[in-house]
Amino acid sequence: MWMAETADVTIIGGGPVGLFGLYCAGLNCLNARLLERLDQVGGQLEHLYPEKPIYDVGGFPHITGRELVARLKEQAFQYSSEVLTGVTAHTLDSTSDIHRIHTNRGVFETRVVIITAGIGEFIPRRMMNPAIDQFEGRGLYYVVNRLSDFNNCRVLVVGGGDSAADWAMAIADRAQHVSVIHRRSTFQCHEDSLRKLENNPRVSLMPNRVLRAVGGDDRVREAWLQDAAGDPLAVPLEVDAIIIAIGLLPGTGIFSQWGLDMDGNEIRVTSSMRTNRPGIFAAGDIATYPGKVKLIAAGFGEVATAVEAAQSYLSDRFRG
Ligand SMILES: Cc1cc2nc3c(=O)[nH]c(=O)nc-3n(C[C@H](O)[C@H](O)[C@H](O)COP(=O)(O)OP(=O)(O)OC[C@H]3O[C@@H](n4cnc5c(N)ncnc54)[C@H](O)[C@@H]3O)c2cc1C
Repeated sequence: MWMAETADVTIIGGGPVGLFGLYCAGLNCLNARLLERLDQVGGQLEHLYPEKPIYDVGGFPHITGRELVARLKEQAFQYSSEVLTGVTAHTLDSTSDIHRIHTNRGVFETRVVIITAGIGEFIPRRMMNPAIDQFEGRGLYYVVNRLSDFNNCRVLVVGGGDSAADWAMAIADRAQHVSVIHRRSTFQCHEDSLRKLENNPRVSLMPNRVLRAVGGDDRVREAWLQDAAGDPLAVPLEVDAIIIAIGLLPGTGIFSQWGLDMDGNEIRVTSSMRTNRPGIFAAGDIATYPGKVKLIAAGFGEVATAVEAAQSYLSDRFRG
């Protein structure tokens, strides 16, 4: 069986948090390796919202997902760490000092593991209504790769959280009009986003509305809505595009088979990002603790803490 050289630190997951972790490892002169299951690093930013603006990362009043990934790569890749894409971590076996990560491309030995696998796979939560989902690729979007698709369009955004609000803001300037529906009576996005949307004449916020059906031919033409009581509205909304932003399905849960203390699909960590297993740390969306917020900025702090804790662990254990 092929086996790579033993690394000090192996980071599982090349999203923003894993990339920043790789930089932190380099800064600490650790021999680091990063494993990413997809063929490109960048995580949710690269694969789910490359063109969406991000407003809440320190030092960047405004930056797109793809631009932030480019900056993170520039920062991380200044050190001679090993970055392997197309490598999925499956199982783990450990001795007291060494962890062996079994992947689709062989076994990787390491003294420390930092898990930054985010939400695992990026599977958008679907409407689960074949009559609606049949329009995917014909004006109905679960993933938005190009904002220009919405130029001069009448767009319906379905969802009431931060993603829905972010999409509405991102396309409002280029679309003819944006309607945002949410099944609840109040939107759950950031207060500032809500104010901006409320004050934008091109945006209509419609709480207590559910997407019941979609009409169209070669593409989406109209959206049939119903109210909170389930009563259909008499007139459809004329639309050219519909963005469904009702969340992502939770990760695959492989890490529950690694002997880690889990809370659902998330890994419980201490304030130094240690898991219940020695030499295994977690950070970013996959890590949980009281008061956790799933934000890029929070993940950056967590992984910096994890690398510092990993450094202490390595010094205590291996460097006397
Ligand atoms: C539409 C949308 C908009 C958002 N907007 C914002 C925003 O404006 N501001 C903000 O702060 N946050 C935003 N977020 C949330 C933000 O994207 C996440 O908090 C962030 O991506 C978490 O980073 P991560 O590195 O922990 O995980 P991820 O970005 O999920 O990256 C994890 C990586 O690990 C890889 N991986 C998973 N399992 C394995 C495995 N077994 N082996 C190897 N690799 C594996 C994945 O392929 C992925 O590349 C948004 C999210 C969405 C969906």
